[in-house]
Amino acid sequence: MDAIILLGAPGAGKGTVAEVIQQQTGYEHVSTGDMLREAVKAERPVGLEAKSYMEAGELVPDDVILRIVQERLALGDSEAQYMFDGFPRTIEQAEGLDRVLEEAGSKVSHVFMLDVPRDVLVDRLSGRRICRGCGAVYHVRNIPSKVENVCDSCGGELYQRPDDNEETVLNRLEVFNKQTASLIDYYDKKGVLERIEAAQPKEVTQKAIVDRLAG
Ligand SMILES: [Zn+2]
Repeated sequence: MDAIILLGAPGAGKGTVAEVIQQQTGYEHVSTGDMLREAVKAERPVGLEAKSYMEAGELVPDDVILRIVQERLALGDSEAQYMFDGFPRTIEQAEGLDRVLEEAGSKVSHVFMLDVPRDVLVDRLSGRRICRGCGAVYHVRNIPSKVENVCDSCGGELYQRPDDNEETVLNRLEVFNKQTASLIDYYDKKGVLERIEAAQPKEVTQKAIVDRLAG
């Protein structure tokens, strides 16, 4: 078993990078959201426990998340390769993951931090517009629609998600930085942290990661 972790701020392009890595390598993309939904849907005890926290509007505690991860890893064989996204979020989760992997005779081999300057992230997120009709994603300058605020494919109205207004974006980035600083430090000390310059075209970013995994 092998595990790698993707870290990146909102807007850093983690989702697209993860998709390509999954296609080009043997690493299976595992996100916390997907694992949680699977566990809830299958009505496994740990899933139901997580659900009770979510329904109460509370954060799912670290030990519940860790059990979900452990069950997820148990589904794969000894050759399985996992790419975590959105997990771990805390040092407790990171230490827990290390324990789970150690029991399976494995460890985290790479942690890729997608580095994008803050002004680029703010521009990417605050310029984003979504179609109310089909969900297509635009950007006011980088991917503009032909007619302002009208979707090219379905004619629907384009809108800005409340999350994407500039003030909220700045707040989201600050929360991310605070949350991630200790994780970066944790993995840096273990010598597995690799910073990837991710303001460049996404193909270049993807290739940089795929090359490091191959090397
Ligand atoms: Zn549309």
